[in-house]
Amino acid sequence: MDYRRVLQQVMSTAAPYVGEGKVADYIPELARVDPKQFGFAIATVDGRVFSDGDADVPFAIESVSKVFALALVLQRGDEKYWSRVRREPSGMAFNDLIELEVENGIPRNPFINPGAIVTTDQLLADTGDAVASARALLRAETGNPNIEVDSVTAESELRTGDRNRAIAYLMASFDNMANPVDLALDHYFRQCSISITCAELAKAGLVIARHGLRADGTRLLSESDARHVIALMATCGTYDEAGNFAYRVGLPTKSGVGGGLLAVVPNHCAVAAWGPGLDPKGNSISGAVALESFAHASGLAMY
Ligand code: GLN
Repeated sequence: MDYRRVLQQVMSTAAPYVGEGKVADYIPELARVDPKQFGFAIATVDGRVFSDGDADVPFAIESVSKVFALALVLQRGDEKYWSRVRREPSGMAFNDLIELEVENGIPRNPFINPGAIVTTDQLLADTGDAVASARALLRAETGNPNIEVDSVTAESELRTGDRNRAIAYLMASFDNMANPVDLALDHYFRQCSISITCAELAKAGLVIARHGLRADGTRLLSESDARHVIALMATCGTYDEAGNFAYRVGLPTKSGVGGGLLAVVPNHCAVAAWGPGLDPKGNSISGAVALESFAHASGLAMY
């Protein structure tokens, strides 16, 4: 595979879309990000990294962190987890409350906000520090010991997080929170505010692309649980746009409102795109075009 040629193709296809869309202004700190940035990175399972554009500029990982939090919970093998959250696409916005109320406080899947809050809550109960666990995993897999929570973004999320608070209290009313709501949300907001670059995100994603094997060759999670994470990325990773992503891109993908996207090609590579301009569903516009171009140029689309 000539990844350099693929990367060139991706950069030129995405260029006209850079700056399109709207930054996530419901989190004030994200509203300040310059939408005209764009980065792309490919990390291969044999250890090569190809990147271009703003691939070394840090951004808020946001919901892409949900992949790593889920992996950390599955690693611990607590069966209780799958009684707290389901494995179905939601068809609703990532921060929807209606479905959650109708379905008795059990979120549809781990990648919408309610499901991710359950995951962080579970990780917090299991480890005593959900953020530290996620940060340690990202540090180890990227080789960057300085990966950190951006405290300004975390504060911004905390201040404007009433919708997530409503979600968490609704789940608590159905007895689906293990920790006090404020404590679990503090971890959730900080987890979402971890600062990471495209190149780092692609490297971290390799643990999923390698079916659970870490950068140092040890195992993070079982091969079958890694397959479960990949299946959930494909069906739920881009919320109520997952069908369209399967149609356009054809790769299991997780998005975040910081404009990051992480896609995995099992046994080949992990790919990260970053463009802060979002479509109305909260997914990066330039990033989606870039992943679509990557899938076509590489011939690695799954379907
Ligand atoms: N921190 C964001 C929120 O909870 C994450 C959402 C996202 O990236 N889709 O609203």
